[in-house]
Amino acid sequence: MEKEKRNLETICVQAGWTPKKGEPRVLPIYQSTTFKYETSDQMAKLFDLEESGYFYTRLQNPTNDAVANKIAQLEGGVAAMLTASGQAAIFYAIFNICSAGDHLVSASAIYGGTFNLFGVTLKKLGIDVTFVDQDAPAEEIIKAFRPNTKVLFAETISNPAMNVLDIEKFAKIAHSQGVPLILDNTFPTPINCRPFEWGADIVVHSTTKYMDGHATSVGGAIVDSGNFDWDAYPDKFPGLTQPDESYHGLTYTKSFGKGAYITKATVQLMRDLGSAQSPQNAFLINIGLETLHLRMPRHCENAVKVAEFLQSRPEVAWVNHPQLKGNKSYELAKKYMPDGTCGVMTFGLKGGREVSVNFMDNLKLVAIVTHVADARTCVLHPASHTHRQLSDEQLIAAGVAPDLIRLSIGIENADDIIKDIEQALDQLSVK
Ligand code: PLP
Repeated sequence: MEKEKRNLETICVQAGWTPKKGEPRVLPIYQSTTFKYETSDQMAKLFDLEESGYFYTRLQNPTNDAVANKIAQLEGGVAAMLTASGQAAIFYAIFNICSAGDHLVSASAIYGGTFNLFGVTLKKLGIDVTFVDQDAPAEEIIKAFRPNTKVLFAETISNPAMNVLDIEKFAKIAHSQGVPLILDNTFPTPINCRPFEWGADIVVHSTTKYMDGHATSVGGAIVDSGNFDWDAYPDKFPGLTQPDESYHGLTYTKSFGKGAYITKATVQLMRDLGSAQSPQNAFLINIGLETLHLRMPRHCENAVKVAEFLQSRPEVAWVNHPQLKGNKSYELAKKYMPDGTCGVMTFGLKGGREVSVNFMDNLKLVAIVTHVADARTCVLHPASHTHRQLSDEQLIAAGVAPDLIRLSIGIENADDIIKDIEQALDQLSVK
């Protein structure tokens, strides 16, 4: 993989695609399902993984690879791949090293879709999960591990609980149990947090969020730090350390070294399950990445202004943003995300669920949408929308109170966002 020792801002703008003489300055969209070869033998070598090269876009495409390369550089990883969605990225990241009979440990305060994926769908595939409270002492969390545990999973900032993860604590727990730490770094993005610097092994993203940043393209990414030593646990990770019969007995760690994990996910999982990103979407994600370093600080600055305004209003029962002094995650945010966290926050209104819904209906500039983390400010009531499949007990475990409103602050002028929220609050009868 191309490796440039450059600053994050330069990586955002220029990494991944370096045109040669006469080539397009802008990353081209390779809108082609397939790639041409001159001899049958050339193509056969690709199918045997004896040579690298493009042959079918379900597996690899030059536009997608350029964007994956940029994301890998932003995270400081050795290899990356794009997927059709964040959910696909999480599924592949887990399924690449877990199969029927295996077990994973996950923080319970995670995105509702991931909670369902782990608690319902993976269970149907024979992969069991134990959810833990990420703020519990390490000794408590370790009790959830079993001999067949293969992964520890969490979100660097949990959606929508807004808990900042103690990454070093989680990395130590995972490594003491001989498993990799996989983190979802969607909310802070590598601009605000680089989990590999704190011991995480693999990072996943919903690129749908800040990376795209404009709400145009659903997408995901998996990045490998290259640091986890699969060969130290050959019986635990046989998919990587023992021969793959579907490639004539090739062993990924032997043939691809630090690239083993991403190579396996690409040539085996993407080949068989096929949640490939479209080159068109990859192009749009790349345009978003070019300004990620400019947008993230503005999202955070605006979010703090809105959070402080909400705190000043009598209708507001509570406000949760990790950059607010006194917030439960304030100290962890200062340690792991000193330049800012993200633009997402949650709050509750006095009067509960019904008042929350009325407030949202009064908003004019701030839109009700099933989304977070794009340029436009938006709002959602998770208990009525994204998390509506969860029971009350599961809602509380995921950090979602019934009155919780999730606000994703965009990069408009903060005064205009505040004015809209102010007029919506003014219309409520509860004070
Ligand atoms: N991870 C987090 C933290 C998310 O917020 C989401 C979606 O909201 C996902 C993963 C899933 O990503 P996608 O919607 O791109 O499948």
